[in-house]
Amino acid sequence: MKILVVGAGAMGSLFGGRLKEKGFDVALVDVWVEHIEKVNSDGLLIQGENKKDIIQIAAKFAEDMEGKADLIILFTKTFHTPKAIESILHLVHENTMIITIQNGLNNARLIQSFFNENQIIVGVTNVPSDLIGPGYVKSVGSGETRLMMLNQTVPKELKKIVKMFNEAGFQCSTHTDIYPYIWEKVAFNCSLNCLATITALEVGFLGELKEGRNLAFKVVEEILDIAIKKGIKVNRVRVRSLVSEAFVKYASHKPSMLQDVLNRKQTEVDSLNGAVIKEAKQLNMKVPVTETFYELIKIIEKTRDERVY
Ligand code: NAD
Repeated sequence: MKILVVGAGAMGSLFGGRLKEKGFDVALVDVWVEHIEKVNSDGLLIQGENKKDIIQIAAKFAEDMEGKADLIILFTKTFHTPKAIESILHLVHENTMIITIQNGLNNARLIQSFFNENQIIVGVTNVPSDLIGPGYVKSVGSGETRLMMLNQTVPKELKKIVKMFNEAGFQCSTHTDIYPYIWEKVAFNCSLNCLATITALEVGFLGELKEGRNLAFKVVEEILDIAIKKGIKVNRVRVRSLVSEAFVKYASHKPSMLQDVLNRKQTEVDSLNGAVIKEAKQLNMKVPVTETFYELIKIIEKTRDERVY
């Protein structure tokens, strides 16, 4: 099975690198020149808990890539999805499968303009990974990856992919209803990512303050209310305990949205809070704190060159 990882940053490099390390036929596709050059000249450096691995893997621009892929693993930021897919259309055949394990809502909807339902796999992962620099990612800790065919079947192709991911060291499972997990992660991200970004604080500080905890849980409840209204079987207790746990376990963590803002980059807030607000409007429901967070992040994004810190 020929695999292309499209968007080979923190997550794409980790997944692509670990699969390649186990002998699978994988190459990386990105638009970042320095990263591509570094990976091709010195290999991909993956720093884990106690060791560093250098993995020899090809990295290219889409236009320089040849042949047809059987599997695309899409790991761009969500706002880059359409452009990234358009760039690799010459590399797919009629049965090519595509996986999105990106954060946020509506990732499958973006892909459906290009692929059929029976080619699309949607997933959710809490495997952590940070991009340290060109050719260099760091992933400390573990996580679970859940995958579901968009048509909610479990064909042999999906089982094969899950087996491959497990062989590469990712705890991976098949699902027929992944939406509760997606919404639960969205609730978590819309809450903690935004709060840390708006306050420019690491997660631990937020957990120490009653105001921090209060706001974090308000957003979680607002979003889970929407999910429940849509008939999605989210587990409130599970999300509340994940957030409480994060205040301690990830005390000194800067969520990716905060890192994006610090690096003057665009955030994924439109796929997170923005997408939830749209769902709420359709249901005639209110998500006031989620919406306030959204607008504050938008102000921060739009003033990236004006800020005094
Ligand atoms: P990242 O910014 O580190 O990587 C994205 C990569 O996509 C970059 O290398 C960028 O150059 C590349 N890219 C941009 N436009 C492209 C295009 N047109 N074609 C090909 N490549 C392109 O982001 P990340 O942290 O790896 O996150 C990727 C996705 O995974 C996001 O949706 C994120 O929310 C999700 N996610 C991240 C983590 C994490 O710990 N980092 C965990 C779970 C889910």
